[in-house]
Amino acid sequence: MTTSILARSIAESPTLRLNEEAQALRDRGEAVIHLGIGEPKNRAPITAILSAAAKLNTGDIKYAPADGLPSLKKAIIRYTEENYDRVVAPENVIVTAGAKQSIFNILYSILNPQDEVIILAPYWVSYPEMVKMCYGIPVIVTPEDGSFHPRMEDIKEAVSSATKAIIVNSPNNPSGLVFSEDFVGALVEFCERKGIYYIADDIYHKLVFDGKRAAPATRFTDKDVESTKVISVNGVSKLYGMTGFRIGWTITNRKLVEVMTNVQGQITSCASPFLQVAAEGALNGLQGIVESLRLTIENNRNVIMEELHSFTGIKTVRPEGTFYCLPDFRAYKGDSVELSNFLLRKALVVTVPGKEFGMEGHLRLSYAGTVKDVTDGIARIKWALDPNSPNDIYIGDKKMIRDWL
Ligand code: PLP
Repeated sequence: MTTSILARSIAESPTLRLNEEAQALRDRGEAVIHLGIGEPKNRAPITAILSAAAKLNTGDIKYAPADGLPSLKKAIIRYTEENYDRVVAPENVIVTAGAKQSIFNILYSILNPQDEVIILAPYWVSYPEMVKMCYGIPVIVTPEDGSFHPRMEDIKEAVSSATKAIIVNSPNNPSGLVFSEDFVGALVEFCERKGIYYIADDIYHKLVFDGKRAAPATRFTDKDVESTKVISVNGVSKLYGMTGFRIGWTITNRKLVEVMTNVQGQITSCASPFLQVAAEGALNGLQGIVESLRLTIENNRNVIMEELHSFTGIKTVRPEGTFYCLPDFRAYKGDSVELSNFLLRKALVVTVPGKEFGMEGHLRLSYAGTVKDVTDGIARIKWALDPNSPNDIYIGDKKMIRDWL
């Protein structure tokens, strides 16, 4: 059997692999703590469940229009008006199987072979692979000052005549940073002027702490949806903790929606209609669930920061959104893959190596789980790495003695 050179060059999703490893360990009865997790623990909103159940009960689940059910589009249009101050038409909206498919579909629809896409490190693991899958070239821009906040000067230096798009994810997975309005405004102005697509991955835009807001990029352009280079991507995965429903969407100009619809029509036909109805139920239901999820996660953020502050040698930038932070573990080990494997083996804690996000020496820790997961998880990491911490610890009902420091 032969496989293509391109397909072989695509890396496995490290987060999905870690989920599977953690589950396999749990199935063997091991007391694993998953700090690699990319989803909150809440139940799906009741309005989503009821809508999906009602649709299922009809027994009439057939293909939907490739660009999405008109009723879901209507809910998305209202969401866009309320959260982006933008009035858009149904022809500006395409519903996809998760924000992930939206981003892939956009890239597939705009890139010619060898076109370059700027990706800001630290970045979500899937961006470079998706660009490569579309025969494009990912150009990684890492802030020269060692921070997690992108800088215009670094981006301008990386832009070439082949630059087609830049992907911006704020609030950011994995750093938790919300990019400054000055930066977003300057980058939008730059992209409009240069004719570069600004792909705004807004999947965490409501998960922001300390009374802050993540202003949408569209607010910084006076062009309308038909002429702006800003493309907005969003979805229900992180907004309502509905990751398994796989519903996301893109808002952009009609021409691009048309092309993306043709692409989608040939690949998946459409996102599953009863899951679209569930997303509609969530968008049209009471929105208190979004705020209560945000408050839970903000509290978890406070807990993890407290735990990490008492950890000798660890430096952490305080996350302002999402459910991730990206502490610097170089005081203990420079190789994040080795460190992550070590922590899984010795302490049964799942972490994601910073290398996967373009930030070697760091580990991405998620605080989307329970407060107990966070406190016990960090206690285990401390025990495994910090010689000043007590020599023994209970992992599940087993007393473990540290014999490697
Ligand atoms: N964008 C970012 C930055 C993410 O972290 C994720 C999921 O972890 C996604 C997109 C994918 O979202 P969806 O579940 O809607 O495909």
